[in-house]
Amino acid sequence: MISFLANEETSIQDIANMFRINPNFILMNERREIFIPGFYKKLISSNELYLAKKDLFDDLLNVEILNLVNEVKSEKELKERQSFFSVVRATPNSIVVPQPYSFSKMENDLAQIQQLYPFLNVNEIGKTTLGKPIYELVLGSGSRKIHWNASFHANEWITSCVIMKIVEWLCYFCTFTLPSETINGYDLFTQITLSIVPMVNPDGVDLVVNGKVDDPIFQEQAILINGGSNDFTAWKANIRGVDLNNQFPANWEIEKARKIPKSYSPRDYPGDYPLSEAESITMAKLVVERQFDMVLALHTQGKEFYWGYEGLEPEESIRYAEYFAKVSPYRSVRTIDSHAGFKDWFIQKYQKPGFTLELGKGINPLPLSKFHEIYAETMPILFGSLLLI
Ligand SMILES: [Zn+2]
Repeated sequence: MISFLANEETSIQDIANMFRINPNFILMNERREIFIPGFYKKLISSNELYLAKKDLFDDLLNVEILNLVNEVKSEKELKERQSFFSVVRATPNSIVVPQPYSFSKMENDLAQIQQLYPFLNVNEIGKTTLGKPIYELVLGSGSRKIHWNASFHANEWITSCVIMKIVEWLCYFCTFTLPSETINGYDLFTQITLSIVPMVNPDGVDLVVNGKVDDPIFQEQAILINGGSNDFTAWKANIRGVDLNNQFPANWEIEKARKIPKSYSPRDYPGDYPLSEAESITMAKLVVERQFDMVLALHTQGKEFYWGYEGLEPEESIRYAEYFAKVSPYRSVRTIDSHAGFKDWFIQKYQKPGFTLELGKGINPLPLSKFHEIYAETMPILFGSLLLI
């Protein structure tokens, strides 16, 4: 985001036209200080001006913008300075890059996205077993409430990186308006409130990505649960060894009876009772409080998605499933023999559409070389969930 003091003659609409940004995103305070999301300020020397005009800004850079951002009245006044600010529009790929996505990497990206796009709201909805914040990002203020989440399972951390990249793209998409665009991002988010929990299980993700967590007692316990091994690449559970996606009160007893682990385990242990874990409690509370119209949970792998539970899914689920299968190479699967998952519980409790997406194909954790393919396949599904189908 950039800020500068505007003179009396300049209106918000003038600025919106100059920057080609939706005027609703431009803020002005009582001092006539203007805030514009989606742009960086860049300090350049005056002899770089010609070069800057050529490379960085093409048609967007003009004297009017430079005068505004540098709070000067004329080009002459600008040229007299040794250095001044130019502006750069952020691209949809300015911040999130595919990388082993620990909690701190995610938190760092989140801070940068929020700085560039302050209209992205961030709430702390709970804390993990080890006391890390569980974040919810909120975009928009509409009546239709959609929820996405990622990394219920620790070694599926690539889903967090995918979802954060999509968040960055959505923020960019919101502000960037072109006359030819059929869907205006700003209008879309006046109809929708999108809630995103990008990392449900940060303790587990850190154990897989970093090979360790900060707490020595839990670290030691995790090694014991892991059969004495320091290799946590197959770890799906939270730091206590409970599988968070087997924790929800939708026929939990069936999973409890038939799952092989009868105690804490790197994967599949449903816990001592439903919603026994800090992370699953946080997610259940969020759903109850917010009353979402649809939820999508991102997992890996399989290139398919599940959308039924005991026949309780509504007609609307069929339409979305057909649409998702049309816009992606993922296979639509109505039901599988599974209970106690987040989407199972959501469908059972509310009879509203719930989806589990299994991104990519291979052995978890999926390699980063698959990132772009996964991103490209998933984007149309996630974007489709925001549309009325
Ligand atoms: Zn999973």
